[in-house]
Amino acid sequence: MGFYCSVIIPVRCPKCGTLEERECQTKDLNSFFLMDVWRTGDNILADFPKELQCIAACSQTSCGKLESFNGKPYVQGWHFTVVVKLDNGVITGDHEAIDDGP
Ligand SMILES: [Zn+2]
Repeated sequence: MGFYCSVIIPVRCPKCGTLEERECQTKDLNSFFLMDVWRTGDNILADFPKELQCIAACSQTSCGKLESFNGKPYVQGWHFTVVVKLDNGVITGDHEAIDDGP
């Protein structure tokens, strides 16, 4: 348990608007695969549901939280929901980024 699959696509942050290639982690593929990474154009499965619920993060300082670890500052990324759309099981890069709060 606790395994994620990742879809790596460019996603615009719903908060600050930064467009970046982000790792969108999903558990929706768990029963099929363990620890896999998918990108635009990949075909997951022909009869797969039309979308994947994912979590992505933005580490812009305006979105994240500045923390420090052993005296070194780092940005704790702000997490948001990304719904990745599939077209016949193929990742098209089409998605919806949702600001679901802090
Ligand atoms: Zn952001």
